[in-house]
Amino acid sequence: MLAFFPALYPDEMLYSACARYHRRSGNLSIKATMKDLFESTTASAVVDLPNRLDCLRRQLPAGTLTTVDRLIKENTLLPLYSPFLPRNRVDKMIAWMKGSTHGGGIHMAMGIMASSVPAPRYLRFCPECLAADESQYGEPYWHRSHQAAGALLCHRHEVWLCESDVPTAAPQNKHAFVAAPVPNGKYLPQSYERYFQHCREITRSVAWLLSHPETESSGLFFLRKKYLHHLRQMDLASYSGRVAQRELLERFTAHYGNCFLEQIHCRIDIDSQDNWLNRIVRKPRKASHPLRHILLIHFLGAGLEEFFCTSVPENRPFGRGPWLCLNPAVSHYRQAVVRRCVISRNCETGEPVGHFYCSCGFNYARTGPDRERSDKFRRGKILEVGSAWEAELIRLAEKEGKSLRATARSLGVDVKTVIRYLARLADCQQEENFIEDGQSLIERRTRWHALMAKHPQKGRKELRTLGSADYCWLYRNDRKWLIENLPPVKSRKGTAGRRVDWPDRDRELGAWVGPVAHAIRYAPGRPVRVTISAIGKKLGALGILQRNIDKLSQVRTSLEGVIETRAAFGIRRVRFAERELLRRGESLEAWRIVREAHLRPGYPASVAAEIERIIYAFKKGVMHGYEI
Ligand SMILES: [Zn+2]
Ligand SMILES: [Zn+2]
Repeated sequence: MLAFFPALYPDEMLYSACARYHRRSGNLSIKATMKDLFESTTASAVVDLPNRLDCLRRQLPAGTLTTVDRLIKENTLLPLYSPFLPRNRVDKMIAWMKGSTHGGGIHMAMGIMASSVPAPRYLRFCPECLAADESQYGEPYWHRSHQAAGALLCHRHEVWLCESDVPTAAPQNKHAFVAAPVPNGKYLPQSYERYFQHCREITRSVAWLLSHPETESSGLFFLRKKYLHHLRQMDLASYSGRVAQRELLERFTAHYGNCFLEQIHCRIDIDSQDNWLNRIVRKPRKASHPLRHILLIHFLGAGLEEFFCTSVPENRPFGRGPWLCLNPAVSHYRQAVVRRCVISRNCETGEPVGHFYCSCGFNYARTGPDRERSDKFRRGKILEVGSAWEAELIRLAEKEGKSLRATARSLGVDVKTVIRYLARLADCQQEENFIEDGQSLIERRTRWHALMAKHPQKGRKELRTLGSADYCWLYRNDRKWLIENLPPVKSRKGTAGRRVDWPDRDRELGAWVGPVAHAIRYAPGRPVRVTISAIGKKLGALGILQRNIDKLSQVRTSLEGVIETRAAFGIRRVRFAERELLRRGESLEAWRIVREAHLRPGYPASVAAEIERIIYAFKKGVMHGYEI
């Protein structure tokens, strides 16, 4: 343990305190000092990021309050680097500084940063600080803020720094601690004079970083997010995050000037896609030198403090959910109940478009971003009206007999929309039969299907008895559908022996193939493949189709025209899956579509191509979505 160790002065390098120890210790050789401080005669004196600090801490005199972490924060250059590195790399560097006994590894840990901007070759000092320190403390010392690459001024006195003749790097300085700056140091080149403003900004930033060692490293992606925010404000990045690289390079080099950038080792090769400025804003995987971050932050018009201490407004053009349901037909109209919002981008204007999906089935879009508080009540296109809205439309227009105009007003749409939806309902649900005894066609059809499913063994006659009300109504109003949805005719004893009039049978069945295939194909719900057996079952003539198809030429021709190949059915399934996923507000990805479409591995190439087409179209439009 040491008998004494000099107290560290403000902004003093740990190296400098070790040098003062060496001078005061009276040790004749530097090796003796190394042994005192680090218990090793082969340790190196490191200026910027020293190691063996745990060892040094153990040697400090009893009663010394400082900790290794404090030494790292207050007396090394690590706080300059750490805000621009991933947290795990900072932790590695700290572990290395504490424990490692090998020199040199730290710069490897920093990645490319060390090589891109070289560290100053000689220790620097400010002549005014030198005089001030001598009068205040009785001795000069090496300041930490004077040793950072790119910091050419003293941040306190705003005068140019002088370069001493004490080299910073091994091997010249490997085993030496040189204490006092020599008074005959030379000023840094006068060529910097005309860049005084830029130099002052850099110097102040370096000083800020060193005096705020708690500035958290939030990772490279966090940095990029911040950069994008500021770039957007300067019109240099789009809403989606595409950076106008060329324009950025031009404006950046115009701001600093190539000569200055060259002198501080931050020249930009404007013709290379892989220059450092592009990398910083585009590829957050690689770390960049703090000096380059400082240059960019200042170019973006932000100070370091603003950059690190204010949070970026989140990229949520429609705010945080839940969002309002804008369906006037439901009781939760204008209430914040929508929990799903998918955001796409208008290809031409780049503006964000929100797609809002409410559980009531009403889905709408709005072009953003929301600026006024009232914007959240604004509705763009209706994507889907949902059953509650449709029911209200029918209630108003049909039951209450309101005028189209009044109906439109109540539902918050224009007259044209009302007409369109009424026509659509009439078209697909046979409007004239839609309501009778307060029961809809759909309800009756559903009930009939349920009855059939409940009694799969029962024949037509028995079902007719069990569900006579629906049967009669459907027979009267929806006969075509009913016939398509009856169980197969049971073969009776003796049928086999009876002579069949095949041409007559062929005509009769042949006429039904088309409508039945159509019904299978356009039935609501999950797609069912149009096959001979599906048609046969619906016709109640599966056996005949399977055994006697050679006698039924017309049926065969009709079947050939309607049955679906595996590929055609696969494509239909994929499109159904697309609609389902979009309806649920989920993003379109290949695996999701395959799962939703129930595709088995080895599906045809044309199906794969359709999936690709759908995803391409989606990716072009939709950027991201979120759910709360
Ligand atoms: Zn100074
Ligand atoms: Zn709703």
